[in-house]
Amino acid sequence: MTSTVAFIGLGNMGAHMAANLAKAGFTVRGYDPVPEARERAAAAGVSPCESQAEAVGGAQFVVTSLPNGKILKAAYDGPEGLLGNAPADTLFIDCSTVDVVDARQAREMALAAGHRAIESPMSGGTTGAEAGTLTFMVGAEPQDLESARPVLEAMGKKIVLCGGSGAGQAVKLCNNMVLAVNMIAVSEAFVLAESLGVDHQAFFDVASNATASCWALNTNCPVPGPVSTSPANRDYAPGFMTALMTKDLGLAASAIELTGTDAKMGSLAVEVYRHFNEGDGSTKDFSAIINEIRANTSK
Ligand code: NAD
Repeated sequence: MTSTVAFIGLGNMGAHMAANLAKAGFTVRGYDPVPEARERAAAAGVSPCESQAEAVGGAQFVVTSLPNGKILKAAYDGPEGLLGNAPADTLFIDCSTVDVVDARQAREMALAAGHRAIESPMSGGTTGAEAGTLTFMVGAEPQDLESARPVLEAMGKKIVLCGGSGAGQAVKLCNNMVLAVNMIAVSEAFVLAESLGVDHQAFFDVASNATASCWALNTNCPVPGPVSTSPANRDYAPGFMTALMTKDLGLAASAIELTGTDAKMGSLAVEVYRHFNEGDGSTKDFSAIINEIRANTSK
């Protein structure tokens, strides 16, 4: 008998992930409040459901890919909620990016309702979701990860057990904090090089092979030219939207405050991206920050 997965949240990531589960042979029952999202999923082999309660009927696994922790906990809770309507001992796999506290609370809620739960935030973007090559950062009991592994393997390529509940989200927010700091630093270096009369390609050819080498430079290069696939070559169409980076940095900011960590660079990156997001940056790739740096450069 094939396993049944309820997939909740058929958005930019979830639509592809649910499609890959169906492709791998799972019976997938999908729910999203947006009718077009349900229709798109149906075309990819997912059985569309009119409510989340209907979707979890008969499921062994419930995968969630939702915008934030508040929405996740609301979807879990209440008479129409996922927890109350799923069969006993369902394994809940949350792939959303939420803060560490919300992740732990959501798991506690699932356990109290007689289920098992892991968090499995992801990286790889919509292209990774479509190709089934996502990286999952898992916070779980090891035996629960083993039960979830076939589901995760149908959607991703690399699965890392980071620790217990909250550890996956912690790794995700630390990774994205480094990414934001790197992107700002790389962009500042390009603008400084411009001001000093240095060619983009010359800086790239050295730095990408030297100690400044990093993903923000080598893969997501913020100037057009050196890396033909980077968003800079298509007027900064994302890619990884500034709004999502700003959301993830908000989670980093809360964690920095909660722990009292001396994270000066991370905190500054939070400020820089919040400002850019409130201006005209929100729907652009986060590498478009270089345009703000250039605009603020006096000469
Ligand atoms: P999205 O906004 O495209 O998708 C979220 C979906 O959830 C939407 O279709 C929305 O209608 C649906 N939804 C909202 N409330 C719901 C509810 N109560 N029940 C069911 N569905 C509901 O977002 P996305 O880009 O697909 O991201 C999903 C999660 O993955 C987010 O937490 C995001 O931070 C994370 N993430 C995104 C990316 C990316 O590149 N897009 C990369 C890694 C992680």
